[in-house]
Amino acid sequence: MIVRGIDSLIPMAYHLAAARFNDMTKRALITGVAGQDGAYLSSLLLDKGYEVFGCDLSIAPQACWRLKYLGIYDKITLLQADMADAASLQSAVEQSRPHEIYNLAAQSAPGASFQSPVEYGNITGLGFARLLEAVISTDKQIRVYQASTVEIFGYGKIRRLAKDMPVHPANPYAVAKLYAHWLGEVYREDFGLFVCNGIMFNHESPLRGLNFVTRKITNAAARIALGVEGELRLGNLDSRRDWGYAPEYVDAAWRMLQQGKPDDYIIATGQWHSVKEFVVKAFTAAGLDWAKYVKTEAGLLRPVDVPFALGGYSKAKKVLGWQPRVKFDKLVEIMVSEDLARWQRHLKGEIFPWDDDTANVGVGF
Ligand code: NDP
Repeated sequence: MIVRGIDSLIPMAYHLAAARFNDMTKRALITGVAGQDGAYLSSLLLDKGYEVFGCDLSIAPQACWRLKYLGIYDKITLLQADMADAASLQSAVEQSRPHEIYNLAAQSAPGASFQSPVEYGNITGLGFARLLEAVISTDKQIRVYQASTVEIFGYGKIRRLAKDMPVHPANPYAVAKLYAHWLGEVYREDFGLFVCNGIMFNHESPLRGLNFVTRKITNAAARIALGVEGELRLGNLDSRRDWGYAPEYVDAAWRMLQQGKPDDYIIATGQWHSVKEFVVKAFTAAGLDWAKYVKTEAGLLRPVDVPFALGGYSKAKKVLGWQPRVKFDKLVEIMVSEDLARWQRHLKGEIFPWDDDTANVGVGF
């Protein structure tokens, strides 16, 4: 174990913050709080009685539409912090004085990472190093969750993943996530920090960004069903993924930080489905024949697509008592029904916080 002599250097701001807090209440700091998982995790922790602090690159009201959508925007202390800026992360940790930190912030789209590999490395990879340094210099008792990903295994020729499978990232996002994942293990083993990597398979929800294929499909199916749009263009329909339900996955992250010792866990449903299956299911749920509306476009293919991967969550089930309840069919139904409801509300003139720019241009929510 490497011991650093920095305890005497704990910043004054930290001690001042300590005086302000009631130590009976658990506090959590969530980076990337404005994202899909950040919103659901905030909601979960508030329900559990936590005081929740959230930081993101932008904490402007528009950027926090998911928190507003869940009705929790005013219940969270929002702090601006950039994963590229160590001082802002240090300040967020000192101001929140958390018992637990959930590092969800990332540039998070594997396909888009080919266009910005440097940014992905800096935010998604090095950002976690900056955060861990802030933890080391503030309070080494803070428990840390890192949002790792199945993408670190990349070209899995294996059909069922286990934690000790060889890693082989297939895009810049996955390379950055692998750096963060291994750094978490290093800080756990060498500095004694309580760091858990959640090796998460894809998880979706009505709060998923429109730049992800699942939400792109359900949003388009709703728009086409209501006559707002005519067609949907997609890349590789044969891509297969293990898709779970985001609110359940953030619950797994919380469970990891409640254990007696830190460890890494695979979180998955154990079932895979193709993009085409998702399309068929979503369009059927919207009352449409998908073949009339969906076109494939070579320009939307990833330079390298991960063939497929199937997750085994047996360790999470045994140790965390976690297992997926919402499976593929139910997940697609939830997403389509929510997108249909939103577009129906919008067409009736209702204004509310959600992420479709065409619907909310100029709306100050
Ligand atoms: P999102 O992309 O919805 O959320 C990530 C958040 O991080 C966004 O609010 C984003 O802001 C913010 N962010 C981006 N750059 C910075 C920065 N420089 N400083 C601070 N914040 C920044 O992702 P999810 O909620 O879906 O996922 C949460 C985490 O889990 C991510 O790290 C993701 O990589 C990981 N993960 C997710 C999986 C999934 O299927 N959802 C699967 C496996 C891992 P903005 O939107 O403005 O860019």
